[in-house]
Amino acid sequence: MKLHWFLPALVGTVLMATAVEAATLEQWRFDQGQNQLEIKTDQRVQPRAKLLSRPTRLVIDLPGIVLGRPRQSQSVGGAIRSLRVGQFDRSTTRIVVELAPGYTLDPKQVRFRGLYANQWIVQLPEPQLVPPSEPNESDEDIIVGQRPLEVPPETVILVPFPEQKGTSPATPRAIAPAPRTSLPPLRTPNSRPIVVVDPGHGGPDPGAIGIGGLREVDVATPIAFQVAELLRKEGIDAVLTREDDRDLGLEPRVQLANRLNANVFVSIHANAISLARTDISGLETYYYDSGKELAETIHRSILESTGVRDRRVRQARFYVLRRTRMPAVLVEVGFVTGAEDAPRLRDPDFQKRMAEAIARGILRYLRLER
Ligand SMILES: [Zn+2]
Repeated sequence: MKLHWFLPALVGTVLMATAVEAATLEQWRFDQGQNQLEIKTDQRVQPRAKLLSRPTRLVIDLPGIVLGRPRQSQSVGGAIRSLRVGQFDRSTTRIVVELAPGYTLDPKQVRFRGLYANQWIVQLPEPQLVPPSEPNESDEDIIVGQRPLEVPPETVILVPFPEQKGTSPATPRAIAPAPRTSLPPLRTPNSRPIVVVDPGHGGPDPGAIGIGGLREVDVATPIAFQVAELLRKEGIDAVLTREDDRDLGLEPRVQLANRLNANVFVSIHANAISLARTDISGLETYYYDSGKELAETIHRSILESTGVRDRRVRQARFYVLRRTRMPAVLVEVGFVTGAEDAPRLRDPDFQKRMAEAIARGILRYLRLER
């Protein structure tokens, strides 16, 4: 499965949702730090947007979408005052981003990015103060890129068509600002867990080089891919940070996990020390804060089934551990420089056993082990 970040407009048709296909808005949230609105519906959607004047507000319509049960407003404060969501007409959900008086934003800089056909990120520019001499009086359409072509099968949730109780077109109601709370998860409580699996390094960065030229990336990648595959078989939304051998910095790996609001982040690497210390072999599993239990569970699972040396669960300030907002671990599956580890790490059977052990540890941590 490929991640569809943003596909160019390959298809010009807009899917019109029929009554049978009525979809709902599952979740939305505004991340004030990043000026980003995230929208998740249970089926595909092609948003439309406009900047309206007097008062200045950004309006995002979700055609074919009825309001599910997400919360209806979020107060932000500052130049972006609040966001509210309402049923605009029978089949359109409307999200209104309200700006503080005297502020506007450049509609050309509002970016819609389809993460999936049912999941969009709206990046808002920094609002600007409007000089009182030139108030903006006109409404401006915002160009929204075509939706990605696919809803990933893992995230399609079919819902029964909700009863229409004589709904009539209505503008969204203004709702008293909700108390400021932490950001809600971008998924429903009963939806499947999301696990982000991160194969370390990639592309021009092979990671450490060990005995006989064994490259860390060639160990971490097949193990990570197999972990994701095993988890998917167990009904988990396993998302890889990279699906091929590409160059990927640390920040996008973390951003993906945070944006998906994953339950768990697992980064897979292989360790190295100098080739003069081939006597050092063994497993190390790292966490920074909330990942301790996850680290211990995965670590134990690997020791149980692979017989590798135990070099303990450790705490470290790795970027991917510090910046992820969920329990996160980094597994150093063995030393590419270790006389004992290196031959095993390049063995596909051992890689498979390692992947199974990591997947089992994740399932155990999520209380999903069969
Ligand atoms: Zn590494």
